[in-house]
Order: sequence, then C-alpha cells, then structure tokens
Amino acid sequence: MRYAIMADIHANLAAFQAVLSDIERRQGVGQIWCLGDVVGYGPDPSECIALLREYDHLGVAGNHDWAAVGQVDTSDFNPDAAAACLWTGHQLSPEDRSYLENLPLTLEKGDFTLVHGSPRDPIWEYLLYAESACESFHHFKTSFCLIGHSHVPLVFEHRGDDIPPSLSDFPLGSTIKLGGRRLIVNPGGVGQPRDGDPRASYLVYDDAEGVIHHRRVPYDVAQTQKKMLGANLPVRLAARLSYGY
Ligand code: ZN
Repeated sequence: MRYAIMADIHANLAAFQAVLSDIERRQGVGQIWCLGDVVGYGPDPSECIALLREYDHLGVAGNHDWAAVGQVDTSDFNPDAAAACLWTGHQLSPEDRSYLENLPLTLEKGDFTLVHGSPRDPIWEYLLYAESACESFHHFKTSFCLIGHSHVPLVFEHRGDDIPPSLSDFPLGSTIKLGGRRLIVNPGGVGQPRDGDPRASYLVYDDAEGVIHHRRVPYDVAQTQKKMLGANLPVRLAARLSYGY
C-alpha cells in the first residue's frame, strides 16, 4: 500500500487541494499520515480539517492545533503567529475543536513513529541540526520517525549511539530506500514551506517497495494570500508564502 506523509498544512486550502490532486493523479494512496499543524497561519482552518477528515488518515497534534483550542499557550509564539492563532480559534466549529483537542501527541504505525516536533518533545522541539537530533533517536522504538514543525524536508540517519546522525536534504524529486537503518524524516511543509521553494512539499511511502518518494506541487499562492489579507491576517504571513520562507 502507499501512504501520503504530510505536515504543516496550516489552513492553506489551495496548497492542500493541490497536494491531494497530485496524489490522485499518481494512482492515489490508501491512507494519509498527517504530522500536525492542520491549522494556524492560513485562511481556511475549518475547511482544511473537514477535507482531511474525508480521507482515511492518521493525525498527531501540532503546536498550532493545540494553541488554537487553548490546549497549549501561545507565549512562545511570535506576535504574527499569536494573532493568527487567535483568529483561527474564532473560525472553528465545536466539531473542529473536538477533532483538534483529541489528536494524540504520538502514534506508532508499523515501523514508523509519527510526531509533530520531535520524539523527545512532540509539540515544541525543532529538529534542524544533527546535534539536536542525536538525542531524539533515544526517544522512539521503531525504525523510522516522521516529524514536521520546521517545514523543511530533511533526513537524519542514525550512525550510532551518541554520534551525531548524518543530515541530508531531500533533493527535489528524490527517492530514499528505507533498508535496515534508523531514520528521522521530515516531509517539508504543505501550507507554508520554509526551505526557499514555495511549492507544497510532501512524501509518498510505498511499503511494497520500501521506498519514500519526495514530491513538490505548485499551487495558487495568490489565492491563499488574497484570502489572508481579506481576513486581516498579518501581511508578513501572506508575503512569506511567495518565497517559501
Ligand atoms: Zn507548523
């Protein structure tokens, strides 16, 4: 079976729809694994939750998901993120709130552990550097851990206890063979990429072949920006989508 692995949709309906269309165009998947932050920053939180829920999926909680329902506080958010979070909270239906409140912090599925931030601190820790990722390999039991939160597609490969893992980008359109090693993998962001490429980023895991494919999908950035400005969301949050940062 094939699984779509995605993170940080961030209420960007146009980006999410573009990813779903890309999946359909390429034979579809049996299940979506969503690594948190369905909402926050973007203009369509309720619509993104509803669309995700139309699919067979597994989901874990992100910092923005829980902040929007008051389950974690926003004191660590920058002012723009906090303003968007407050706005998001007002858009959610009781069903949306209940969905977000009940997302687990961590899930295990076969050889994979799913979290938003890191296996050590699922809500808040960013894994961007080999040194900080080193400790994380002690905090999950499966071969592979899937993370989001940084919005940057990355692969950390374990090289031994207390040795910093190797760190590599996910080159465009590349495929990684899973094999008998331990990896921490970030699919990049769907709704607010931060690696300098504005296109939505996601992965497809094929369990028969034991490989993960990286995919990039263009979407109508201007449409999302127009909705954000119409909703009086912070201008800087709309502008950054043009640059993928
Ligand atoms: Zn995020």
